[in-house]
Amino acid sequence: MPTVQTVEGPVAADELGVVLIHEHLRFRDEAVAVQWPDRYDEEAELEAALAAVGAAKSRGVQTIVDPTAMFGGRDVRFMARVAEQTGVRVIACTGIYSYDYLPHYFENRDVDVMAEHFVADLQDGVQGSDIKAAFLKCAADAPGVTEHVEKIHRAIARASVQTGAPIMAHSMPAVATGPRQVEIFEQEGADLSRVQIAHCGDTEDVDYIEGLIDKGVYVGLDRYGLEMFLPIAKRNATTAELLRRGHAERLMISQDYCATIDWYPPEAEQVFESQGAIRNWSMTLVFDEVVPALREQGVMDEDTFRTILVENPRRWLTA
Ligand SMILES: [Zn+2]
Repeated sequence: MPTVQTVEGPVAADELGVVLIHEHLRFRDEAVAVQWPDRYDEEAELEAALAAVGAAKSRGVQTIVDPTAMFGGRDVRFMARVAEQTGVRVIACTGIYSYDYLPHYFENRDVDVMAEHFVADLQDGVQGSDIKAAFLKCAADAPGVTEHVEKIHRAIARASVQTGAPIMAHSMPAVATGPRQVEIFEQEGADLSRVQIAHCGDTEDVDYIEGLIDKGVYVGLDRYGLEMFLPIAKRNATTAELLRRGHAERLMISQDYCATIDWYPPEAEQVFESQGAIRNWSMTLVFDEVVPALREQGVMDEDTFRTILVENPRRWLTA
């Protein structure tokens, strides 16, 4: 049985159980957090992460995949504290979360040097710890696949080829970044059956999503509760149609929930909720509302649930 690296060390793949494939224990800008640490309350952040993960655990979740990379404030020691205190396994990544900006450090070094940084995180450990990353993360958003974004994608793909680690790519269906992202991975020789294109559930265009699935990748229907991109009912309609078309083995369902996020002032969450920009956004929404709705539509039986929440994550993580 292959093993998967968690923040508490390697675990047999068949012990991962029910997996939330895309949730953030904490999301913050590491530069701001380093320069103005007094603006952050680390204990409150930990409490929020423990509450969110504890709630997920109460719904049967045994493992959380946290794709927080560089620029999202990745902190594997924080993740390890949450894993220890909740008993839920946490899986960390390496990579760069940028829609375009690249530090001069990486701008003036080539793709292979960037890839070496990722490989070190996968093989030696992250941030001076012996906690190893288990997968690679990159992103493309509204600006599209810019020169810098392409460079990151190529480095991610090369690190995957060298190590066998799977790839998760944040995408933006509204500007159709997915096909170009997949094309770059393919050009670099990455195994597309180990690639996950995140945030495909932000569109109702089932044919667009199916076009990606036809390339052999996994697609993330992973932002349940973020109504600003697409409301839950429309997300469910997309998920149901993909299931009817027989794609259960390529789907990942999650919430992209951030237990805390510093992008907005603290009062924003309530404003967003009252404006309908988010609704019941949490680490339990999938279990409380989405799975029951899909069951009612007759597309989510026990086997399908296991395929999407147990087997797909395991297969993506281990080949
Ligand atoms: Zn995310």
